[in-house]
This record gives sequence, C-alpha cells and structure tokens, in this order.
Amino acid sequence: KANRSFQEDDSVIDIGNGVKVGAENFMVCAGPCSVEDLDSTVELAIKLKDAGANSLRGGAFKPRTSPYSFQGLGVEGLKILNEAKKETGLPIVSELMGTDHLDTFVDMVDVIQIGARNMQNFDLLKALGQTNKPVYLKRGMSATIQEWLMSAEYIMAGGNNNVVLVERGIRTFETATRNTLDIQAVPVVQKESHLPIIVDPSHAAGVRYLIPSMAKAAVMAGANGLQIEVHEDPENAWSDGQQCLTPAEFKELMDTIKMLLEIE
Ligand code: PEP
Ligand code: MN
Repeated sequence: KANRSFQEDDSVIDIGNGVKVGAENFMVCAGPCSVEDLDSTVELAIKLKDAGANSLRGGAFKPRTSPYSFQGLGVEGLKILNEAKKETGLPIVSELMGTDHLDTFVDMVDVIQIGARNMQNFDLLKALGQTNKPVYLKRGMSATIQEWLMSAEYIMAGGNNNVVLVERGIRTFETATRNTLDIQAVPVVQKESHLPIIVDPSHAAGVRYLIPSMAKAAVMAGANGLQIEVHEDPENAWSDGQQCLTPAEFKELMDTIKMLLEIE
C-alpha cells in the first residue's frame, strides 16, 4: 500500500486545524525535545508559530538511552501541549513508546510519533493500524529504506494510511556527528512511495551548528517538511539541549526556508 505502484499521486495527510503534509503542503514541526512546564511551552509555541512553524512537537514520554535520565512528564506533558494548542491553534505531535497509552494519545495528540527505537515494534505498529491517527514514523537507527517502508506497511495494512516518514539520520562509522543524515533517502522514498517524507536534522546531527545547513539541504532535496528541536534556553534544556536552536535562530532559519520553498 505504501508503494508508488499502488497510488501514483502523492499522499496528502491532514493533521488537523487546517494543516496538511504531502504534495505541495510543507510541514514545519518544531518544539522542545521534552515538554518541561506550562509557561515555557506556551511562550515557545507562540514564538514558533510567529516564525512560521505549523505544528508543535514536544516529548512527554521519552526514550532515553539511560534509565537515570529525565523520562518525560508523561500525561501531564500531553496536557501542557494541549494548552499550547489552545493558545496557538498549532496541532501537536508527541512520541508514544508502547501500546499502554495508545488510547490516551488518540484522544490527546494530533500526530503520534513513533521513535527510531520503536520503528520495528510490530505490535505497536499493528495497534496504530487500527486507529486513523496520523503517525510520524521515524527511521530506525540502522534500518534500510526498505525495512522502514515495510514498517509503514504494517500500519497501513491495518487500514490506517495516514503515515508520514521521518528521516532522522542513521548510524554509521562516522563519529563527528551523532548520526549520518541520509539526504538521499528523500528522493529514494519519493520514488518508491507516495507517502510524505520529512527530515529531522536535529537528531541526525546531534549538534546545533549543522541544523541550518542540513535543513536547507532537505528542502532542496524535495522533502515534504522539517522537524526541528527548539528551546528558549538550550544550555539548560532537560534533554537534547546541544542540538536545540534558540527561537531567534529558528526564526532566521525559517526566513531562509520560506525563500527556498519559493524557488523550489
Ligand atoms: C525525539 O524525536 O525526541 C527522538 C527521541 O527521536 P529519535 O526517535 O529519532 O531518536
Ligand atoms: Mn530529542
């Protein structure tokens, strides 16, 4: 079902509040790695919207490498995102890690993010297939494009065709960056599949200074959107601060992206 031979036209996925992704609809999803508190989330959401973001992303259940790192605010984080949505109208995206909270996520978020570490959690993918929620399916750290598309297929096989693919870098022998952004995945996926593909330069790079150049490269490669981590005070973020832009840096990047989208 994900294959281009099944559907010739690009899929357009409606994530609510008038925001779509796919074909000519460009999605800019931005926000903190982890939701921290109400005031900072709402203030940041307002700035992101002003800069040109059309959806808000924040982690409430976090897949941290260490069990001793901050694990997220849980349902409280989803409530905070909903307050920010009320204030700004931005649809919200958050990561679900297991089937336990599936119903809560269906009720409380606009897009369910499946992280790299769960790309092949087939029970979770099958359960998502039984809903009609838009799903952001991040590429597994060591997944081939075919394996990634097969994971999309698991969701679609159940009847949910609202899948957005997110390239977030893959693990290679290179150590200068956290992961290697596979920019070629954009045209390859678009050749193989009708599903939208967006690029997350934040988790690919793992360092702030690479994000603007990689975001611009993604636009020029024809990506259908971007997912970027932004924090008011990156040095003091509760997770992934080293790869967050400040709101001012994000605005500057967005001004360039808007120009590139006109050229493209
Ligand atoms: C995230 O989006 O915050 C995240 C943990 O990403 P990934 O699953 O791509 O590592
Ligand atoms: Mn993160």
